[in-house]
Amino acid sequence: MLVDAHGHVNFSAFKNDADAVLKSALEGGTWVVMPGSQYSTSRRAVEIAERYGEGVYAAVGLHPIHLSEKRKMDVQEVQSENGKEEPWMTFETNGEEFSYEKYRELGRREKAVAIGECGLDYYTEPKGREKREAQRAKQKAALAQQVRLAQELNLPLIFHCRKAHEDLIEFLWPHKGAIRGVAHCYTGDMKQAEKFFELGLFFGFNGLIFKEVPALPDPTEIIKALPLERIVLETDSPYLIPPQAIVGSDPTMRNEPLFVKYVAEEIARIKGISMDEVALVTSKNAKSLFFI
Ligand SMILES: [Zn+2]
Repeated sequence: MLVDAHGHVNFSAFKNDADAVLKSALEGGTWVVMPGSQYSTSRRAVEIAERYGEGVYAAVGLHPIHLSEKRKMDVQEVQSENGKEEPWMTFETNGEEFSYEKYRELGRREKAVAIGECGLDYYTEPKGREKREAQRAKQKAALAQQVRLAQELNLPLIFHCRKAHEDLIEFLWPHKGAIRGVAHCYTGDMKQAEKFFELGLFFGFNGLIFKEVPALPDPTEIIKALPLERIVLETDSPYLIPPQAIVGSDPTMRNEPLFVKYVAEEIARIKGISMDEVALVTSKNAKSLFFI
């Protein structure tokens, strides 16, 4: 079996066939954790997960990008470079304020196994130092509340981090030993990985490891250096489809949890170990991280 520790089957890209996608994942021996990115998608994740027994779970949280004022965002800068865009590749931020009470209510539901995704995202920042600092402070305030919620509910955290690794490390350091979680879609460098390792976090890898993104550190060396016992597999569906899953030549194809097997294969290749070992250990990791 495999566990997709980060697959947004709760997103609108799956609004017509979430159950079919989850059914094929389960039939293919793949469990799924669906993180929320705002209140509506967090609630949907819980509602979907509640229709299932073992194998389908939710996480509830507010993604830092959704704290921004209403504007249209392109989630998939990497894919949209290919020129073609599907409606689900863009979304609107809605300037949500984190409501501790509302998220606590969701987080207490049995199928909610983590708080997230939450974190820091400095990819798109306003111009001018003052505005930039204000946005960063807002993200840190929402993150602080989510860390507190995770501690209250004794849940792990799913951290999203883009161009903000140093700040996230500094932010989390005082909580060392008091939090559990995963650095989802890890894009930091080796030195930063050592810090996240010391914080006791797991590292999530997904289809991004197949892409050469010049602005990002090469994940291969980091995957080699990390013990398998700290790695979980992700898809970040509907985004970041692994190239092997693309039928024909359509790079805008929707990713889904079943395709996590390609990430598993690539990690096995990079580490020079068997696919069985990757499946066994990463599934065990996800189960112990999320208590599932
Ligand atoms: Zn995500």
